[in-house]
Amino acid sequence: MKKIIRNPDLRFIEKAVKEAQRSQKKQEVPVGAVIVKNNTVIARAHNGIETNNDATAHAEIIAIRTAGKNTGNWRLAGSTLYVTVEPCAMCLAAIYLARIRRVVFGCVSFNKMYAANTFKGLEVAQIQDLSIQKKCQALMKTFFKNARHPKRSVYGKKSRKSAEKRR
Ligand SMILES: [Zn+2]
Repeated sequence: MKKIIRNPDLRFIEKAVKEAQRSQKKQEVPVGAVIVKNNTVIARAHNGIETNNDATAHAEIIAIRTAGKNTGNWRLAGSTLYVTVEPCAMCLAAIYLARIRRVVFGCVSFNKMYAANTFKGLEVAQIQDLSIQKKCQALMKTFFKNARHPKRSVYGKKSRKSAEKRR
């Protein structure tokens, strides 16, 4: 029987999807990231904005911090970051500063902060596998659909009302 050779990008983005599912369980926006160097995962993380009350606690940022700690080096040169959703401008800047060479993401982002072209030498590519793209997108769609529905709102009725008052 022919041995199935899995594309390493697929293998690693699937690990990022697992991380995204973890944030979904915590009612966080489901985004997951892993950082890989020499075919080894050096960090894995998921979105932690609500848990940490930190607007900057995106999966990519937490992964970069963890990778630095795990390797004892903030320079993550030669590594690849896999993330389920196209990174925002803040994360792209952090990825660039951390010397990460390549970013592979699952689905495109709804926000329009995409600025990959600004960062010279950083390769940013979407995963070509359709089922992974859809999986990443479905996680986000389900989350935001539930968040908008008042009865199922992850933020609860009360906070939703007070949010509406503030407008
Ligand atoms: Zn971000």
